[in-house]
Amino acid sequence: MERPTSEIAGERASAYEAAGTKLPAEPARGAPHVDPDSDGEAMLPAERLLDIVPTRAPKRWKPRRVLVTPAALRWPLARRVVERAAAMGAEVTELPANRLTGLRGATDRETYALAKSTLAVVEAPPSKRRLQPIPPSADWRVDLAEGCPAHCQYCYLAGSLTGPPVTRVYANLPEILDGLAAYGPGGPHEPATRRREGEGITFEASCYTDPLALEELTGSLAETIAFFGAWDADVGLRWTTKFDALGPLLDVDHRRRTRIRFSVNARDVTSRLEGGTAALPERLGALRAAARAGYRVGLTIAPIFPIPEWREGYGELLRDAAAALAGVPDVDLTVELITHRFTAGSRDVLLSWYPRTKVEMDPGQRTVKRTKFGSVKYVLPREVMTELRTWFEVAVDRELPGARVLYWT
Ligand code: SF4
Repeated sequence: MERPTSEIAGERASAYEAAGTKLPAEPARGAPHVDPDSDGEAMLPAERLLDIVPTRAPKRWKPRRVLVTPAALRWPLARRVVERAAAMGAEVTELPANRLTGLRGATDRETYALAKSTLAVVEAPPSKRRLQPIPPSADWRVDLAEGCPAHCQYCYLAGSLTGPPVTRVYANLPEILDGLAAYGPGGPHEPATRRREGEGITFEASCYTDPLALEELTGSLAETIAFFGAWDADVGLRWTTKFDALGPLLDVDHRRRTRIRFSVNARDVTSRLEGGTAALPERLGALRAAARAGYRVGLTIAPIFPIPEWREGYGELLRDAAAALAGVPDVDLTVELITHRFTAGSRDVLLSWYPRTKVEMDPGQRTVKRTKFGSVKYVLPREVMTELRTWFEVAVDRELPGARVLYWT
């Protein structure tokens, strides 16, 4: 059941009254773009709406310990990370060799806790700097880091990365960035077709990490965004995040060649399953800040779960996102829709990390999907998928009429 418009308007009215703010005219629901007949922000309530949501300081990750390899220490970025982490109180260990050691505790539980509080600073080897295609998100995957300090109970990294879930950042960023030209326009690996029409050749930086979670320590994103800003070619950088500390990124000369997407979900999911991330209102506040700074923006709605009353939950999310963008001029917004899935391997890993998880991972309740490489994924049952997809197509169009849906999967 959709919530009636009058009910939502009533809530907004109460919020404004509580904040001592005069209620403006009800905005066009869900319009993320500026009203062409208005001068923008003056008539639109979203900024004040967000102002009255209790705001917290941006989510910061403070590693307890930092391991740095000798090879990494040759790079300024490694020294920067070490200094910043030490200033936050982390214990820094310079390893004697380029192999990471000391990652395991006595039990699986201890290993998980140790790894999630550890930051390793390493060099990306040449094999990691050979880019791979990453459908359906982008033409190429570029890794600035691997692993993530947050604790999402469905984390997709569980099926992708092996070993203790330690976060590694790559110190040799200049080498990583220098290598990108070969994959761009005129380069020997230039793709024959572009996956993202209108954005040139795209490079996805959040396949194996949440890069914003690490930015305060590394500064890697700021450098990469500036690199793309200065790369005078038909190229685009894209990354998605569940964090909100945009800080210095707002001033980077990005030339609109970066799309910042926020990974969002129904509030029930974000508050119950996404430990260690920024709360949903803060992510939406960051979405607004990014759009106001001229970035292309996006919503990665993932993973979509058929939770009880999912229409209400996801409907509220879409309306909140629309409110967050209301009045921002020239918004370029995309939406990616990704349903929940798991593999036998990711299920085992997640159950070892989160033994009491409420995330349903019962193969018997799922449809089996075989990838072209022969591996098996458990996706939502066909009829549930159809119901969700049909609803999302209509709801996104209604609430975010200026948005482009990139894909459903
Ligand atoms: S933020 Fe993303 S990468 Fe990090 S734990 Fe959550 S799902 Fe995994």
